[in-house]
Amino acid sequence: MSDDQKDDLQTDFNPQERVDEFKNLEPEFWRHKKLEEMNHYEWEALCDGCGKCCLNKIQIKGKIKWTNTHCRFLDCQSCLCKIYKHRFAVVPDCRDIDIYAVREKPRWLPKTCAYWLLDNGYDLPDWHPLITGRADSVHKAGMALSGRNLINESKVKDYEDYIVDWQDL
Ligand code: SF4
Ligand code: SF4
Repeated sequence: MSDDQKDDLQTDFNPQERVDEFKNLEPEFWRHKKLEEMNHYEWEALCDGCGKCCLNKIQIKGKIKWTNTHCRFLDCQSCLCKIYKHRFAVVPDCRDIDIYAVREKPRWLPKTCAYWLLDNGYDLPDWHPLITGRADSVHKAGMALSGRNLINESKVKDYEDYIVDWQDL
């Protein structure tokens, strides 16, 4: 990581400020717009900040297996990416969450992910920050990675040793 990139670590990012900005969005836009119709701000607001897409996955016989190992740049308390602005340059297999990622098969986003839920005809869960107006509601509901037994990928030799079967994946 370059010095510039280190300077951009998200140490001063306030998730609640981001959620406070949701009041500028069209009320309940997700109920009458398809994902393809959403603007950039609406799309970004759908992310609940759970961090679960930053867990490492492996494919075995065509099926996604989740592990409790995480990208080395994930902050496990806040569930924020420490290098958000530079993530694609620093981590080649970090995936942009776009419509193609949402519809990819086999599914690799967690079943609680707002993008996947809406695209599959479900509503947002009642703990989603767009519903609660609180950035921490995903953590309080136990739907984020915070508080879980997580292993930094830098310590992992064989991902198969870390497969988990969490209900919300
Ligand atoms: S899994 Fe979905 S909702 Fe959770 S952090 Fe990733 S993109 Fe956001
Ligand atoms: S680099 Fe990508 S996978 Fe790693 S923590 Fe950041 S967003 Fe998640």
